[in-house]
Amino acid sequence: MNDREILDIFRGHGALLEGHFILSSGLHSDRYIQCALVLQHPPIAGQLCSALAEKFRQLNVSVVVAPALGGILVAHEVARALGARALFVERQDGALTLRRGFRLDPGEQSLVVEDVITTGGSTRETMQSVLEAGGEVLGVGALIDRSGGAADLGVLKEALVTLAVQNYDPSDCPLCKAGVPAVKPGSRTPKARS
Ligand SMILES: [Zn+2]
Repeated sequence: MNDREILDIFRGHGALLEGHFILSSGLHSDRYIQCALVLQHPPIAGQLCSALAEKFRQLNVSVVVAPALGGILVAHEVARALGARALFVERQDGALTLRRGFRLDPGEQSLVVEDVITTGGSTRETMQSVLEAGGEVLGVGALIDRSGGAADLGVLKEALVTLAVQNYDPSDCPLCKAGVPAVKPGSRTPKARS
């Protein structure tokens, strides 16, 4: 699958929107990607994630770890393709943490995956929890890297599609200045939904 075919899948499911959006990071943007709309179809999730997994085939990945919620299905399907385990980290007292009895073996070869990399913040946090649990991070994968490839995570990073999407600080957002109403299509905390 090439970039265009993959983006057509996203557009076809309304998962790549154009307008004026408030991202979970608080930044504003003219594009919004909602991977869940694509991943709700298991055959498509399997197809996209196995294509992502192929980029890490040469590594001996034993476990795939993702931040909840957005990354869980990606970790599961990538792990299926690589014959690895799939774990997720979730917020506890503000920090992404392995819970539910999830453990890593000392030095366990880990791959961190995301649905979308925006700034790399949650990816870095997930990498940190893998390290704290004793694992080793071999690489990072995402269905879409919307940082234009700019997010430097210090390990091998692969995405199915890399997009250079403009993010704006709310105080300096041209869409706000133009009076375009902003939409918050997804949020990091339930509080922000009210
Ligand atoms: Zn704005």
